[in-house]
Amino acid sequence: MSTMNTVGRPTTPHAVQTKPATLTGGRGLLQDEALIFEGDGWGKTGVDLPAPATDAADLGDLVRRDPIGLPGLSEPEAMRHYVRLSQKNHAIDLAIYPLGSCTMKHNPRLNEKMARIPGFSDIHPLQPQSTVQGALQLMDTVAHWLKTLTGMPAVAMSPKAGAHGELCGLMAIRAAHEASGEHAQRRKVLVPTSAHGTNPATAAFVGYSVVEVAQTEDGRVDVADLASKLGPDVAAIMVTNPNTCGLFERDILEISRLTHEAGAYFYCDGANFNAIVGRVRPGDLGVDAMHINLHKTFSTPHGGGGPGAGPVVLSEALAPFAPAPWVVANGDGFRLIERGEDEAAQAFGRMCAFNGQMGMFVRALSYMMSHGSDGLRQVAEDAVLNANYIKARLSDVMSAAFPDGPCMHEALFDDEWLRGTEVTTLDFAKAMIDEGFHPMTMYFPLVVHGAMLIEPTETESKAELDRFIEAMRALATAAKAGDIDRFKGAPFHAPMKRLDETRAARQPVLRWTAPEGSNLAAE
Ligand SMILES: *Cc1c(COP(=O)(O)O)cnc(C)c1O
Repeated sequence: MSTMNTVGRPTTPHAVQTKPATLTGGRGLLQDEALIFEGDGWGKTGVDLPAPATDAADLGDLVRRDPIGLPGLSEPEAMRHYVRLSQKNHAIDLAIYPLGSCTMKHNPRLNEKMARIPGFSDIHPLQPQSTVQGALQLMDTVAHWLKTLTGMPAVAMSPKAGAHGELCGLMAIRAAHEASGEHAQRRKVLVPTSAHGTNPATAAFVGYSVVEVAQTEDGRVDVADLASKLGPDVAAIMVTNPNTCGLFERDILEISRLTHEAGAYFYCDGANFNAIVGRVRPGDLGVDAMHINLHKTFSTPHGGGGPGAGPVVLSEALAPFAPAPWVVANGDGFRLIERGEDEAAQAFGRMCAFNGQMGMFVRALSYMMSHGSDGLRQVAEDAVLNANYIKARLSDVMSAAFPDGPCMHEALFDDEWLRGTEVTTLDFAKAMIDEGFHPMTMYFPLVVHGAMLIEPTETESKAELDRFIEAMRALATAAKAGDIDRFKGAPFHAPMKRLDETRAARQPVLRWTAPEGSNLAAE
């Protein structure tokens, strides 16, 4: 029997448990794939190298006598191995990636093309500066636009991720308190309860004690609680705006006034800048330091183990403490200021070797220039519109954590609507995988019970949002109708079924070990 789904295509009713297992482990045209060590390619080689003309006498006794013990694959086998593995992953190029707080947006191919221009990709940070003037100019131009978009006078370009940027900002704040002789007495950093975990971790790492600030019923910083905790022992506050509940901090001007009155600095976590870029300048809100995740707002790719970039914009008060290096333009070119002897006299040091994530700077500038200022503003507007569309269309079947008023760039639901169903947030997320959707962020922020944080970004079209919404609505209806098998055993269609996640986290097996007695291990 088949029914029509909401987009008019015939579907088979849900009957996953009865599907026969396949002989190969493949599903449709998705191949099962073992570890590279588990194949039978030992002893084979994909390339024919001529035998060395002389023996490796220079190596003395270090010449290998045993087989090297590496898996041998032909070129197509090697390609297939990695492509099959890649298909076990979700990717932004496959479908919506609704992880809240992560701003998973499309990475335009134009950025990649720019990053591969040899003048940017084939240079070395130790080259004489006269030979990399174009790259220095690019860094200076990215810095210019970051300062312009935030209304801040200075930027440290070298931090390599958001969390690294937080570290940079707090080190600049510590250096400023040291310079004014107040460091010994200012030992606390105030952080709201809804903060991303990196905020308190960073403050603790820099040596501060963390004091939590309460949140109001409507999901914002409790200004009265903040005011009662501010004093001569506070070094800084760390506030995310829009915050991790997806809400704009309405009292932000009052928050920064109170903070400055108490002699403390305002660190703003700028991970959510995507929601306000081109519309609000954090410098106008009294922010002293803010990191910008280029891999969120400016569309450079998120990892896969690869680099992010977290430049930190700084206020007039903190600018003198910015870490080296930075680029200056003088009459006849660009120069990196690298040492404490000259202009960088108060710099607190360096965040890392060299100059930051060059490839990400190129991608970010490409993104900025292809959008222009009006386009960047539209990014924020469309991201907020998309999130509100999701919030509006799901609020009758799921419970919005803060139902009153619009949200910013992400829609936050709690698990109140699942009460009495036996289905948990985790079960629901696993069932989303069966429907071909990467789950939203779960159980964060911690202040919302069973949180489901959905951030569509501006990238998604209305058609794609509708497809996502219809699937979410259908799952919500199934959960409420008591179809709990569909959730408890999910995912049924994924290569890995329900994992023992606690064990996977506590006792991870990260290394292949050769079977007893074999000489196959790569040393
Ligand atoms: C992503 C994020 C961070 C950390 O940024 P990374 O680049 O992952 O280090 C910090 N705060 C918030 C609110 C974030 O969403």
